[in-house]
Amino acid sequence: MSSRGSLIVISAPSGSGKSTLVRGLFEKLLETPGLVFSVSHTTRKPRAGEVHGKDYYFVSEKEFRELLEADRFLEYAEVYGNWYGTSRLEVQSHLEAGRDVLLDIDVQGAMSVKGAMPEAILIFVLPPSFEVLHERLLNRGLDAPEVIEKRLRIAREEVGFYCKYDYIIINQDIEQSLFELKSIISAARCMVSRRREQAEAILKTFIGKENE
Ligand code: 5GP
Repeated sequence: MSSRGSLIVISAPSGSGKSTLVRGLFEKLLETPGLVFSVSHTTRKPRAGEVHGKDYYFVSEKEFRELLEADRFLEYAEVYGNWYGTSRLEVQSHLEAGRDVLLDIDVQGAMSVKGAMPEAILIFVLPPSFEVLHERLLNRGLDAPEVIEKRLRIAREEVGFYCKYDYIIINQDIEQSLFELKSIISAARCMVSRRREQAEAILKTFIGKENE
């Protein structure tokens, strides 16, 4: 049997370029086989182009509450007025099959995951500065001014959590950030806990070779 996969959590303030980074990682999936994206449940309405079951499982507040009461979430949180939750079953089955699972979740969710699964690897994506973040939110033209104000206010709170994470990616250059993200995933795969079975099998080849 293969060893358990790693749980990799990525968080960032809105506008840090995290979504572009995660998309980039999966577009280059051939270079990172064995990595899956955990599709969350959300009560948020789908945006143009978003696909149910691929980007999110879009559910009603009632459905979300029912899943919550049935203890189906590994973690959940309210973010920008909508509810989001990670499926416990989906994550566990991938990990047990030896696949690495990437969770794109907010800081509240990341802290819950770390509490429940201390072996999870937490990555925080920081923008190069507050000004750059502000500019990116303005330039993407997605949000009304009051929404941008709210995202910036939440970002000021979120950045303080970076020290609770294991790794920081400062997202100045997307290619460099992607390289760093892939390197963190590669490093997780080289951990003793992941390679113990392979190492033990290699060690067995050393037995009885004292005279060679
Ligand atoms: P968006 O609605 O823009 O896709 O995501 C808004 C925020 O919710 C992002 O910070 C994203 O990381 C976070 N998020 C997405 N899914 C989950 C989840 O399952 N749990 C938690 N805690 N946050 C989530």
